[in-house]
Amino acid sequence: MIANGERRVVVVEHVVVVGAGLGGVRTVEQLRNQGYRGRISLVGAEPHAPYDRPPLSKQILTGAWAPERIVLKDAEALAGLAVDTHFGVPAVGLTAGAVELADGRSLAADAIVVATGAEARRLPGQPDGVHTLRTLDDALALKAALEEAPSLLVVGAGFIGAEVASAARDRGLAVTVLEAGPVPCERALGPEVGVLCGRMLTEAGVDLRLGTTMAGFADARTVRLAGGTRLSADVVLVGVGAVPRVDWLRTELDLDVTNGLACDASGRVLGADGVWAVGDVAAWDDAGHGGRFRYEHWTSVTDQAAVVARDILGVEAPAPAVPYFWSDQFGLKIQMAGRPQVADSVVPLQGEGLAGGPVKGTVAGYFAGDRFVAVAGFGAAKQVARHRMLLVRGAEKSEVLAG
Ligand SMILES: Cc1cc2nc3c(=O)[nH]c(=O)nc-3n(C[C@H](O)[C@H](O)[C@H](O)COP(=O)(O)OP(=O)(O)OC[C@H]3O[C@@H](n4cnc5c(N)ncnc54)[C@H](O)[C@@H]3O)c2cc1C
Repeated sequence: MIANGERRVVVVEHVVVVGAGLGGVRTVEQLRNQGYRGRISLVGAEPHAPYDRPPLSKQILTGAWAPERIVLKDAEALAGLAVDTHFGVPAVGLTAGAVELADGRSLAADAIVVATGAEARRLPGQPDGVHTLRTLDDALALKAALEEAPSLLVVGAGFIGAEVASAARDRGLAVTVLEAGPVPCERALGPEVGVLCGRMLTEAGVDLRLGTTMAGFADARTVRLAGGTRLSADVVLVGVGAVPRVDWLRTELDLDVTNGLACDASGRVLGADGVWAVGDVAAWDDAGHGGRFRYEHWTSVTDQAAVVARDILGVEAPAPAVPYFWSDQFGLKIQMAGRPQVADSVVPLQGEGLAGGPVKGTVAGYFAGDRFVAVAGFGAAKQVARHRMLLVRGAEKSEVLAG
């Protein structure tokens, strides 16, 4: 196919997308939406139809949804997009212009999109039987374990740990959460706002132990703390982040995989012509703020797929998107838009949560000097939506504080 883009003319006959999660599926959709009629191959390590991950720690765990409800595209929908699927067959190598599959086949392509996501980080010496949560199979195993258990111990107070704690409290389990840092979700929200996540946990009856360092596991139900104390529960979940899936690349290309696949601001993988990356595996240059960021956010994956599909076809990129994520826990929606990583101050924009008052309704603004760089809200969807627009417009601090 020849795409007459506004920037250049490109000939693309075969796109291979590696990874059949959200990023892979969105890339396929975007290519078709842009009018691409050439061949697309979608390679997925898991045997399942592509599915959505946010409900794994929410509706799947509580039992509110059956697994069928999280399917992103079933076989019929994929056939409608005219995609050759290779599910249950992981990719095991990348060369210039081809992807090697575990069954020995090689798929030559004009464009390759890496969308292999991330895997749950495991702790050293983590025994079998200690849970992690990344896949549908993980979620079903954890749900089954929680159904039988009176108690849960979560290692790591990030969003996934907190969402699992929330689902377990709904089921009436006694829940303990261990966190090495001074507040939960510090990496995503910063120390001031992370305090509010800690309050949500403790107000829901979770035994939250901050600044607690683990020394290891005694067995699948018992952890050893640095001071020698042992803590046991019927179910143990490790929720200490995710590691980008770059292990399979086995390539002679000179790629930077320090924190995921290093890409330019259009998702082109540095050091590999004709290769792009989207989603949790990809670290994109941020032209607006400087630096390279790897987001593990549902919305960012979708935004990046739109950019990559257009870049492959040589058509104008959409306007840069503001990163956004949400988390549902303890009956509240936490939302974050923007780049809190570049902030040097945090200011309350609404509510009393930052001063010790109710968490619900609190909105916090993040600033880098006079620049408004991020907003976080707790059960304050309208306010977050309004401030998200201000972020898109690049509003100054004075305008944001004026309300
Ligand atoms: C439990 C959970 C809850 C979440 N909740 C939220 C939320 O509330 N809000 C939010 O904003 N974000 C949330 N996220 C994050 C969001 O789901 C991810 O950002 C998103 O799924 C990333 O999409 P992806 O396509 O990059 O990766 P993935 O969804 O991980 O998909 C990658 C796919 O690639 C496949 N793969 C890996 N290696 C290979 C290989 N070698 N060959 C072929 N295929 C391969 C994997 O099997 C997988 O299917 C959550 C994530 C999890 C795990």
